[in-house]
Amino acid sequence: MTGFGAARIGIDLGGTKTRLVVLSPDGEVLASSTRPTADYGAGPEALAALAADVRQLRGALEAGFIGVGASGPVLPDGTIDNPDTLPGLTGLNVAAALRDSTGIDCRVENDALSAAIGEWHFGAGRGARRLLMVTLGTGIGVGLVDDGRPYTGTDGIAPEAGHIPIPGAGHPCYCGLENCWEQSASRSALQQLALAAVPADIAAAGPQQAVAHLAGAPDGDRVLTEYGARIGRGLSTLLTVHRPDVVVFGGSGAEQFDRFLPGLRAGLTARPEYHGRYELRPAELGDLGGAIGAACLSS
Ligand SMILES: [Zn+2]
Repeated sequence: MTGFGAARIGIDLGGTKTRLVVLSPDGEVLASSTRPTADYGAGPEALAALAADVRQLRGALEAGFIGVGASGPVLPDGTIDNPDTLPGLTGLNVAAALRDSTGIDCRVENDALSAAIGEWHFGAGRGARRLLMVTLGTGIGVGLVDDGRPYTGTDGIAPEAGHIPIPGAGHPCYCGLENCWEQSASRSALQQLALAAVPADIAAAGPQQAVAHLAGAPDGDRVLTEYGARIGRGLSTLLTVHRPDVVVFGGSGAEQFDRFLPGLRAGLTARPEYHGRYELRPAELGDLGGAIGAACLSS
């Protein structure tokens, strides 16, 4: 990574949390803040509140660029088009609003693609020729970076590859398909598997506690192996189509990477010539990875 000319602002606009960073030219986080996305409310007031948070970050107003990674779809002009995950901001042009209120150039991109760009520059994807990033969160996001260039459709919109059908039944999706990968293998799906597997008193404490219990329990292997196999069913298709050399797993579901990896590998049953040669790695940039990646977007 050659670094940027000036500090940059990165914003990870997720369905649950919004994280902001100021990133130095060589990738160091100089300042950050996090708050629930619901705090912003809806409509133009939400954009004004987001801009106010940007201005409060130390060093923000000296930054040369604002990148935003938002739960997709995102239109090329920076308008959010995701009524399922970001209802309060859907239909609003986040790029134009932040540009107008701060005087700093701004671009908005799909959050999985932003995370992929961050891992390519500063994380587990360094050196990859074709990086495939899979984020296991509320849904599944997929970003593809080719020699540092983000892959989008001809309309400028990043493909939503969490919505590929996988073998099996019983995972109907809000997108209209009957059996989407993200319904089967997102972190939310892992939480459902965990809630069904742990004792009732632990399940009553909530889905995060259920996953944490499984991760520490000997019998957690069975559930996490099943979860890995579910991830593998969708990944197999993406390996066949894209033939990446590095696959990075991010999002909070990837905290169980070491535990689900055996099941994932067992689920990838195609002969090697159909998938090519690739490495599977956990993301390195942590909770702030989406915001760091957003700061790395091209202006
Ligand atoms: Zn779907």
